Amino acid sequence: MGPKLSVAVIGGGWAGLAAAVELAAAGHKVSLFEAGKQLGGRARRIESNGHALDNGQHILIGAYRETLRLMRTVGASPDRLLKRLPLELNYPGAGFRLRLPRLPTPFNLALGLMAAKGCTLNDKIWAIRFLRYLQARDYQLLADSTVTGLLDAHRQRGSLRRYLWEPLCVAALNTTPQDASAQIFANVLRDSLGGSRADTDLLLPATDLDQLFPCLASEFILAHGGSIQCSTRIERIDPQLTIRGNTYDRIILAVAPQHAMRLLASHEETAAIAKMLDSYTYEPIGTAYAGYPPDVRLPCPMLGLDGGMNGKLGQWVFDRGILVGTPGVLSFVLSAHGLWDERADPALVASLHGELEEALGKTLPQPLWHRVIRERRATFSCRPDLPRPAAQTPLGGLWLAGDYTCADYPATLESAVRSGIAAARGACGGLMS
Ligand SMILES: Cc1cc2nc3c(=O)[nH]c(=O)nc-3n(C[C@H](O)[C@H](O)[C@H](O)COP(=O)(O)OP(=O)(O)OC[C@H]3O[C@@H](n4cnc5c(N)ncnc54)[C@H](O)[C@@H]3O)c2cc1C
Repeated sequence: MGPKLSVAVIGGGWAGLAAAVELAAAGHKVSLFEAGKQLGGRARRIESNGHALDNGQHILIGAYRETLRLMRTVGASPDRLLKRLPLELNYPGAGFRLRLPRLPTPFNLALGLMAAKGCTLNDKIWAIRFLRYLQARDYQLLADSTVTGLLDAHRQRGSLRRYLWEPLCVAALNTTPQDASAQIFANVLRDSLGGSRADTDLLLPATDLDQLFPCLASEFILAHGGSIQCSTRIERIDPQLTIRGNTYDRIILAVAPQHAMRLLASHEETAAIAKMLDSYTYEPIGTAYAGYPPDVRLPCPMLGLDGGMNGKLGQWVFDRGILVGTPGVLSFVLSAHGLWDERADPALVASLHGELEEALGKTLPQPLWHRVIRERRATFSCRPDLPRPAAQTPLGGLWLAGDYTCADYPATLESAVRSGIAAARGACGGLMS
């Protein structure tokens, strides 16, 4: 084993934790600094009036290979902590349902599409053509455009556009199809629908987000000789790689782009990256938790709502009774900017309640409590040709991690984790064994 390095990781979200775990596992000395009181960043547990919730309902998919690998590294069992379900998009209110059967690719997709309910044969044939077109060019578009442009160009219309492509775009890129990058959307399709059958599975957390990775990751880092300081905001990175009086061999800056920008702007070497990040815009995500009497259950863990039409707002609703064992607690997810964000909490929850009743075709008791969490800068807006910085910066020894640095992907847990691993491996070069 070669000589080991001292590495400071700034930011204890999933990217920073992934970097720290990867470094600690390779025997490097890690010092992790997190501004908040707890680890996890944009994917963390919160407490609200005695209810254990998350800052936002998160969905993983089988293609999140590095996340699953790192969960195993720190001793978090994906089989126990995630509920694996075949991809199912079920919109009871619209009569649309697509479920991928447990068959090898591409039969799962072809049969799933052909058996989909609530769309025409013509829509299905065009959808299969669209996928074959993308596959034939290895999901590489000639030029980036918007997802709307891509769908128009490939005659994706009707229910499959409305209940498959557009919701997938909003869920994965957290950007509306009119604004979203077609190339990043194609990359997502490549790794999900275009991957193996297991890649297409939905993995829904069966526990709070802290238990999924941050808690065990922090234990792993400490057990491997690292240190973690929460409630410690780093205000400045010295060009000699000194932070708070200590000098490190490497620094990995694993904070969200708007925070990275401020730290990078003060150095000549990194000013251009700061300028690039200054051009980013952001999208919100809302999660409306509603506590119903415990006997209220959804017919399946995740249902689609027909938002966007006739003033309706709902997108997805999850049954946390089925998922995390809190009967009666439903979480409504509202991705990307939209009308939902203009409604005050009680009015928003009342609308979502009414839309769910309509979708299920039955009256529900009123929620006993609600809590709406609006993450204003949940993710960067994933626009066409958005410039993304490399992990290595021109300031010697300073590396970047964070969902925004993973150029192939939108902002997700997987891109955060991959970015952390890439920064750790890049920063410590051949010293990772
Ligand atoms: C509501 C919501 C729902 C989402 N849903 C999904 C989903 O379903 N599936 C999915 O895959 N992804 C989802 N995402 C996206 C995913 O959560 C993020 O992409 C991911 O968590 C980003 O991780 P990160 O480590 O790159 O950044 P962050 O989580 O932002 O971590 C950066 C950390 O750095 C800290 N920090 C900032 N400045 C400093 C400083 N100066 N000094 C020290 N520390 C600092 C911050 O406090 C933070 O903890 C969702 C995000 C949100 C907000």
